[in-house]
Amino acid sequence: MKSKIWLSSPHMGGGEMKYVQDAFDQNWVAPLGKNVDEFETSIENFLNENKFVSALSSGTAALHLALVQLGVGYGDEVICQSFTFSASANPIKYLGANPVFVDSDESNWNMSPVYLEQAIQDRIKKNKKPKAVIVVHLYGMPAMMDELLEVCNKYDIPLVEDSAESLGSTYKGRHCGTFGEFALLSFNGNKIITTSGGGALVTNTKEQKDKTIFLSTQARDNAPHYQHSEIGYNYRLSNICAGIGRGQMEVLEQRVQKRRENHDFYKSLFSNIEAVNVFSEISSDFYSNHWLTSITINPTLTEKTNLELMTAFAEENIETRPLWKPMHLQPVFKDCPYYGETVAEDLFKRGLCLPSGSNLTSDDKKRINEVISKYQF
Ligand SMILES: *Cc1c(COP(=O)(O)O)cnc(C)c1O
Repeated sequence: MKSKIWLSSPHMGGGEMKYVQDAFDQNWVAPLGKNVDEFETSIENFLNENKFVSALSSGTAALHLALVQLGVGYGDEVICQSFTFSASANPIKYLGANPVFVDSDESNWNMSPVYLEQAIQDRIKKNKKPKAVIVVHLYGMPAMMDELLEVCNKYDIPLVEDSAESLGSTYKGRHCGTFGEFALLSFNGNKIITTSGGGALVTNTKEQKDKTIFLSTQARDNAPHYQHSEIGYNYRLSNICAGIGRGQMEVLEQRVQKRRENHDFYKSLFSNIEAVNVFSEISSDFYSNHWLTSITINPTLTEKTNLELMTAFAEENIETRPLWKPMHLQPVFKDCPYYGETVAEDLFKRGLCLPSGSNLTSDDKKRINEVISKYQF
């Protein structure tokens, strides 16, 4: 059996162990310490917009704490992009609130500003003004931020960015994760950089960061004994994991370049195959980290489906995966309101994510090339 080619696997830079060893040497084997502080600073410097970053145990935890701070509570509604991973919507339910899902723009794949406005207007008509809007930069592609922010500002609803997949992507020269009232980052094992598991919440003010850390460390009041006036969470990032993160931040730019090279490779691989479209930026305003390169198959040009191509890759021990199944089609969210048409659903039916790790070798690319050259579209 040939070795497995993964969709996106961890890729260490070499500096990680030094920081992990430091934590052991100084016995800061705890969810606080120098690695946590330095990791946060390195992300703040990278984002370059005077943001405040809190390192947390996951991206999901970061979104949860964003919604807590926006005052989302029982019975409230929060608008969320339907075309995403479930972690973009689950924290809404943790708070007893209800997601309202919105379809995507056909060429950008992220939330459609048109359907967003329809959704907001209709929810307001039903006396259910949404408490927040969660926009995702899927597969690293920046969402249409100008248009989305314009709609959110018009109705005075805070925008939360799910930047779990888009660290290193920019929109009009500005980093994804710096547009919203809050933004979450993820350092899960499959993301562009990893701490094995981890995340961060990006905020605009020092007060928001202090509040985030307060909530993530069990909401302890300032008292000699343990006293609590609010419900807390145990969401702070481990100092060991943060050590991995410090090493990963040193190679982030290289990782973005490598993933973008993978995207170029797929562009040329499919350049003569009319039935396949490689998902790409619609204009130079958008700069994707191309976390996962994705394709769609045009059903008017071939009978072959995405799942058949997936099987052809699997026979060569190459991992691929269909695009995210939209949230409004998930059994767990089937009763939630939905605004839009079949854009996300159609992408889900026709799309496939291809191996996109920054550690993809030229030998791996040769094997991928072989599958495609033999395949009859
Ligand atoms: C990975 C991911 C998350 C969740 O991040 P975790 O760190 O795994 O909790 C949220 N949203 C999207 C779009 C993701 O891809």
